[in-house]
Amino acid sequence: MASIFSKIAAGEIPSYKVAEDERHYAFLDINPMARGHVLCIPRREVDYIFDLDDEEFAALQLFSKRVAEAMKEALPCKRIGVAVLGMEVPHAHIHLVPLNSEKDMDFRAAKLTLEAEEMEQIASEINRFFQKKC
Ligand code: AMP
Repeated sequence: MASIFSKIAAGEIPSYKVAEDERHYAFLDINPMARGHVLCIPRREVDYIFDLDDEEFAALQLFSKRVAEAMKEALPCKRIGVAVLGMEVPHAHIHLVPLNSEKDMDFRAAKLTLEAEEMEQIASEINRFFQKKC
């Protein structure tokens, strides 16, 4: 059965799309740690990120780098933090989180609740900068 993230990448489940290419998809985390928290995934469904082959792993990292650059331009933040957990969804993904302080990346902290309109606006702003890089 397809993972929830495969369904998102295929457009079968809605998401706030931030970026995509042939082999990758990036979207806003629905329970963000910070405004503009993004997940980057390979379209090919692999549970554990270190089970991607070397080329796929490198391509996912490079895609995430381009997304992070767009995030940095679109959002007021000092840096983009990077993390991999995979404890909840069995489809490899990289968390990208806009940071102003180390407190912005605390997986145990209460998540933000943002209105759909704000999520759409954040996603479209990141996408605008991502498109400029393509
Ligand atoms: P983990 O697998 O531990 O890296 O966590 C999975 C992440 O996916 C969590 O931060 C969730 O909030 C996020 N998530 C789960 N379902 C969705 C969804 N349908 N859309 C966006 N983000 C999701």
